[in-house]
Amino acid sequence: MTRKILMIDDDRMQFRLTQAHFQNFRGERFELEWAATYEEGMTKLLEGSYSACLLDYQLGDRNGLELIKAAVAGGSRTPIVFLTAESSEKVDIEAMNAGALDYLVKGEITSRSLERSLRYALKLGETLEALRRLATRDQLTSLLNRREFDRIMAEEHERSRRFGHPFALVLIDIDHFKSVNDTYGHQVGDRVLQEVAARLTKGLRDVDRAARFGGEEFALIIMQADAKVAFDAAERAVAGIRATPLSLDGVPELKVTVSAGAASIPADAGSVEALVAAADKALYAAKSRGRNRALAFNAL
Ligand code: GH3
Ligand code: MG
Ligand code: MG
Repeated sequence: MTRKILMIDDDRMQFRLTQAHFQNFRGERFELEWAATYEEGMTKLLEGSYSACLLDYQLGDRNGLELIKAAVAGGSRTPIVFLTAESSEKVDIEAMNAGALDYLVKGEITSRSLERSLRYALKLGETLEALRRLATRDQLTSLLNRREFDRIMAEEHERSRRFGHPFALVLIDIDHFKSVNDTYGHQVGDRVLQEVAARLTKGLRDVDRAARFGGEEFALIIMQADAKVAFDAAERAVAGIRATPLSLDGVPELKVTVSAGAASIPADAGSVEALVAAADKALYAAKSRGRNRALAFNAL
């Protein structure tokens, strides 16, 4: 499949010129698409279907730097190469600081330099994405790791304070998991963790996030949700695991269950630490009341 490159530039001539350069590329063929305004460019970037972006510094009365910052804040991971009319060290450094991977001066662009810069940005973008993944994901389950969980919780708490909406946490722990390890070995235990993680992810709304909280404990961050919504999510998670026994190669069907505790900010807690403690308390109440169930902190 041909990779798509997005060009955001208010100058049609510049787009035509770049298109001509693309015809001269010696290696991979790319498809070049054009966005002529800040708004159109931003919308297309956030769609996320482009392999890289060529971005003009001067976009009508808007500034390309603003666009990079807004796109990154909006979650865009598309590698960006900055285009500017003049060579200026200040613009260069600003662009790199904002998140651009390279910088080209319009009057000096050749087909070769453009191709080289794009290839470099694509490669660097892939490397950065792999590093980001390593830093934020749990290796076994591919869920968010504990560090990323902490970061998102702090960010979401800040947002919830600023906009006055609630948010909630569900903590989930596999029941009698030690006996799975003891009976079938650690490797089967690992596969159970992967399957439970996959089922938890499948049951989530798009905006919510699943993390591996610790060994056989998981966390669901339920965005803009109160205690009721969080408890529903907790019950769905428990039911989703209970519904079908796990069938893993070479092992008899495993009836795995989990217990869950739900709590929300601001109803049950005023800080992230207190929210985790409240969900944990509800989880352990669920354990002591027989496991394979969800409990809300406000029902204890
Ligand atoms: P409970 O219902 O009270 O939660 O009982 P439990 O056996 O699940 O709880 P316990 O905390 O006693 O045991 C948790 C087990 O999870 C012990 C530990 O070896 C196992 N575990 C933690 N991380 C991993 C992992 O990455 N892989 C595997 N296979 N096992 C793990
Ligand atoms: Mg545990
Ligand atoms: Mg357990």
